[in-house]
Amino acid sequence: MLIRPILLTSFLLLPLGATAQEPVSVVATVGMIGDIAGILGGDCVAVQTMMGPGIDPHLYQATARDVQTLNRADLILYSGYGLEGQLGEVFARYAERVPTLAVSEAGIAREELVATDNAYGVDPHLWMDVSLWAQIVPAIATQLSQSAPDCAASISANAATYGDQLAALHDWTGQTIASIPQTQRILVTAHDAFAYYGRAYGIEVEGIQGISTQSEAAIADIRDTADLIVAREVPAIFVESTINPRTIQAVIEAANQAGQPVRIGGELFSDAMGEPDTADGTYIGMIYSNTTAITQALGGTPAPLPAALADWAAQWMIE
Ligand code: ZN
Repeated sequence: MLIRPILLTSFLLLPLGATAQEPVSVVATVGMIGDIAGILGGDCVAVQTMMGPGIDPHLYQATARDVQTLNRADLILYSGYGLEGQLGEVFARYAERVPTLAVSEAGIAREELVATDNAYGVDPHLWMDVSLWAQIVPAIATQLSQSAPDCAASISANAATYGDQLAALHDWTGQTIASIPQTQRILVTAHDAFAYYGRAYGIEVEGIQGISTQSEAAIADIRDTADLIVAREVPAIFVESTINPRTIQAVIEAANQAGQPVRIGGELFSDAMGEPDTADGTYIGMIYSNTTAITQALGGTPAPLPAALADWAAQWMIE
């Protein structure tokens, strides 16, 4: 459980006798949702994120503390489309007594999703295509404005600014991936979290195990991936912050034995953001960090950051 400090300054500055508007208590499942709720809501919301850095949402089970937090929430935001595994049923029950929104299901049409053979029939890793994830911004803004009507104007303005930033991030990511030499534009990672990333930005994606992390990679999967690395002369493959790196190590050993000197190209954020109060702990930073690591390890050069991201870069002291 990650608790963000509630800003009390505006409350303390109120003249005597005025009634302060309590910030709306928002509980989000993953950081990629909580970050956006906090940016749109500003001081009007106090956001708590259930799953912090390194936490795998596919396997997550609510703790006793989560239940306490959820019981006090004014608004619950989760992704849906099967991302949160069994928690989906828990939220269906909360929805009967507190506003509860599956933001991906509300914002992103099912036709835009990649079909899979998992229990839900669709790949839930939608934040990997920034233009898709941007579609949850209006859905969150609408819901927040209902919970905090006095803040509707600022929420709407923040949503517009943030939407511009995401549009710029989407373009930058595409340009940056395009700098990788065509034959090396292949992304090998532990689990299939990057299908939307590959589709949006033109890089071939090979996940060693399936969409969810509930099954261990089989020996045959490891051997097949090593064969591919040798055949394509892939220089680097990637570990993920939420996945045990054992599988990736096994693939590297098998490829090295077959004569291809592949190395780890870096750690990617797949299903959780980085530490809070760092650039990697923001949704924009998560995509920026992944794209930079992939591009540099595979022989490309990141494009200059667009003007719309200048404020974000300055905030986190990124050149
Ligand atoms: Zn995943």
